[in-house]
Amino acid sequence: MRVGIGYDSHRFASGRPLVLGGVRVPDHDGLTGHSDGDAVAHALIDALLGASALGNIGEHFPDSDPRWEGADSMDLLAATIRLIEERNYQVVNADVTIITESPRIAPWVPQMAERIAELLRIAGSCVSVKGKTNEGMGWIGRGEGMATIAVVLLDQIGDIDTLHASIRTGG
Ligand code: MG
Repeated sequence: MRVGIGYDSHRFASGRPLVLGGVRVPDHDGLTGHSDGDAVAHALIDALLGASALGNIGEHFPDSDPRWEGADSMDLLAATIRLIEERNYQVVNADVTIITESPRIAPWVPQMAERIAELLRIAGSCVSVKGKTNEGMGWIGRGEGMATIAVVLLDQIGDIDTLHASIRTGG
């Protein structure tokens, strides 16, 4: 079992759609970013890469690469899942916290959890999404942007000899 944590933050920007966990949240400013600015997907990607010690989102999907301009971040999340599956990891569960003064996250939680579970290939009951405010403090409190935190647990599948060999070699 391996645990990973991911963090992301983005500024709000008018005229951009707000997309969180692959779900379009209407009637609210979106998030700046080279891609669609989906801070939930980005935190999950970094948590997955962290758990598997495969680097970070900037290394795999650099801002400088025109391929990721306006990208659907759920496609990047799917690509990250393929990366960890190639190394015989599977996701056990994921827990996401979205810290923002607005919009209210609760009404969108079931849809986000369903989308995330689909991509991580786990049951909806293994995905948690929670919204929190920052109690009006600091840049989040002023509504300048939002922050996200994701934790994932991975399980390495495969025969025990392969597993022991990989532990011995640090792979
Ligand atoms: Mg980001």
